[in-house]
Amino acid sequence: MSCREYDHYIQLYVDQEISEADRRKLLEHTRTCPACRRELKEMVALVSSMEDVQQEIRKEAPFQFNGLFKWVAVCTVAVSFAYLVIPFTKQSLFVKDDPIPVQPMQHSVLVLAGQEETLHIPQDDSIRIVHPEQWSEELYKSEAALVYPSAYSFLLEKSRPWSDYTKRFVFVRVPDEQTLASLLTYIGTKVESLKGLSDIQYPTSIMINLDETIEYETFAFPEKERDISNLFERISSEPSVSEPRLH
Ligand SMILES: [Zn+2]
Repeated sequence: MSCREYDHYIQLYVDQEISEADRRKLLEHTRTCPACRRELKEMVALVSSMEDVQQEIRKEAPFQFNGLFKWVAVCTVAVSFAYLVIPFTKQSLFVKDDPIPVQPMQHSVLVLAGQEETLHIPQDDSIRIVHPEQWSEELYKSEAALVYPSAYSFLLEKSRPWSDYTKRFVFVRVPDEQTLASLLTYIGTKVESLKGLSDIQYPTSIMINLDETIEYETFAFPEKERDISNLFERISSEPSVSEPRLH
């Protein structure tokens, strides 16, 4: 789809008339297209500010100069975006839990681990540690996720849905093939889609990129803090097909 076609989606988005499927498509596109991201952000800001003005106007007498002046300002802005039909009757455009997708957690890594686990994870704003008891679906919208063994049973027993926003999973020290198979099923992948899995020596750590073709690599999870830092840099980097295997 071209950016031109996404214009239409942006319009539907601000009108709150977009279907869930199209909304996902649009948000997916805005993650990689700065132009559309900017436009979406601007449109949302514009419509929100118009709503504010509209509310101000409702509070005031309709024919006061001040109110009229604001209407002129609103109309001027509206005309400059004449290709958009913005309904003035909408009460609120965005609910609080529907954040504007301005790279909300770009390159972020969510770490899921039990509180008892010692992590040695670098201090970094892009890394967020969450314990299973803090589960909320909103939280799990990260580009990459690293799951420690102490969280496996939580995921697998309760089969919590993980947002399909996450494109890279790292499972730390997977003890055996059965656990790996369960984890793969959990993230919507089948063992058969990963070639060469039968050669793996357990326990193993595994990084999986979910794309049209699923890439994975197994590695020994580092013990030293500095090596863990390097690993996190890799986890938060753009997925690339040509990345060398860790070993
Ligand atoms: Zn675009």
